[in-house]
Amino acid sequence: MQSWYHIIPKNTGISSYVWIIFCLLPFFFIFRSSSVIEITFGILMILLFFLSYRLSFISNSKMVYLWVSVEMAISILMTILFGYIYFSLFLAFFIGNIENKVGFLTLYIVHLTTTIASTVIIFFTHNEVLFPQLPFIFICVLGVALLPFTIRYRIKQHRLEEQLENANEKISQLMVIEERERIARDLHDTLGQKLSMIGLKSDLARKLIPVKPEAAINEIHDIRQTARTALKEVREMVSNMRGSRLEDEMIQVQQILDAAEMEFHLEGNATLENTPLLVENVLSMCLKEAVTNIVKHSKASRCRVLIKQSTTEVLIIVEDNGVGFPEGVNSFKGHGLQGMRERLEFVNGTLDIQTSNGTTLNIRVPNVIQQKEQEGLV
Ligand code: ATP
Ligand code: MG
Repeated sequence: MQSWYHIIPKNTGISSYVWIIFCLLPFFFIFRSSSVIEITFGILMILLFFLSYRLSFISNSKMVYLWVSVEMAISILMTILFGYIYFSLFLAFFIGNIENKVGFLTLYIVHLTTTIASTVIIFFTHNEVLFPQLPFIFICVLGVALLPFTIRYRIKQHRLEEQLENANEKISQLMVIEERERIARDLHDTLGQKLSMIGLKSDLARKLIPVKPEAAINEIHDIRQTARTALKEVREMVSNMRGSRLEDEMIQVQQILDAAEMEFHLEGNATLENTPLLVENVLSMCLKEAVTNIVKHSKASRCRVLIKQSTTEVLIIVEDNGVGFPEGVNSFKGHGLQGMRERLEFVNGTLDIQTSNGTTLNIRVPNVIQQKEQEGLV
């Protein structure tokens, strides 16, 4: 909500300096009148207008219509008596803020009609007042016709952006919860079981030592083996959790392709700037799967990877000169490409596959999420 002294509309596309002129201009129009009564009446009207304008922002829904009606009446009077039409712009701005569609349309039509009618009236009665400011009056009427819809559209857009931010925030919270649950599950299934087995076997070994020392040695051997397996599993878990940066993945890609004796060309920079780890993990996973597929299925001799980061998106092209997709192969029969698509969708990315002259995968992720994170919104 605006402070009480804020009567200058925000986000209208019109500079606040212009609005200040609109606030001061009516006094100029009034002081052109010769009679003291007219001047006093005019000043009272202006003060009443700004008072009701302010009240219309802070009142409940029913009172709003009363204040808007008062403002409309003053706007018409000011136009007819003093040739001052610009209060109608303040009203147009306010009407754009009305959420109720019926209320908005009703006030919009009434306001537009009364503004045009009062302009026509003054055109026939005070032609000399109107004539010098004709272009401004034309712009003003145009503003009355367009401003409410512009404001309404901006508010709607702003609301949608807020909803998107909330949704993104919820997604990241859910991801954290899901990850925690996964870690808990993994710990239970691996470490938990192995440790209880180590406990049981140690008890058994302790009992066997006086009676069957050889059997006890076997049990101790088992304990050692179980501890080693547990350690290996913990290491695997930790390395899975870390997630990989694209530049690290690139080293592995190079190693895989070297082992498969394929030529490898990298264009662009694998060090991405201002990219969230989530996006890099998804891109790394896609790159790994694409290269694994090339080695597994393509029979290619060459693989080219192009990485391009622009202001709007990150593009990775993975290309091979192999046999392409076999005729009639459903690209979703395996889990690899399907998984790539699903993970890319999660970060608003896309996967496009071309299979003429080898296979080309275009992987794109827009920068929207990254910018939001920079602003601290995700
Ligand atoms: P998974 O990835 O689940 O281990 P997969 O590799 O068979 O199995 P996808 O990665 O989804 O599954 O690939 C689907 C199919 O698309 C493959 O079986 C293969 O026939 C074809 N394919 C994918 N990449 C290429 C490529 N670079 N060249 C030729 N064929 C390919
Ligand atoms: Mg695959």
